[in-house]
Amino acid sequence: MKLATKIAHRSEFPVYRHGAVLERGGTIVALGVNSAWKSAGKRSTHAEVAALMKAGKNSHGCDLYVARVNQAGEPALSRPCPACASVLKTYGIRNVYHT
Ligand SMILES: [Zn+2]
Repeated sequence: MKLATKIAHRSEFPVYRHGAVLERGGTIVALGVNSAWKSAGKRSTHAEVAALMKAGKNSHGCDLYVARVNQAGEPALSRPCPACASVLKTYGIRNVYHT
């Protein structure tokens, strides 16, 4: 969770900064941060999904840690949204821990 919080600070998204860490048996499988609005289409990628895309099939059976920091750099609630939650299920994520 410490690492998830650390990488959340790297997010370029100005308001909500999320960091996600996929881990299996103490080994980091992938990291993800949410990305800034893209100029075309105004879409953002959530940190959970960013990490899953990096891990691909490797994500099966992983635990996921999601952290969020607010504009003041303090931890904030980062429960995965319904869309992410269903993707996480599809990818076989075992447990989700969030700030
Ligand atoms: Zn989400």
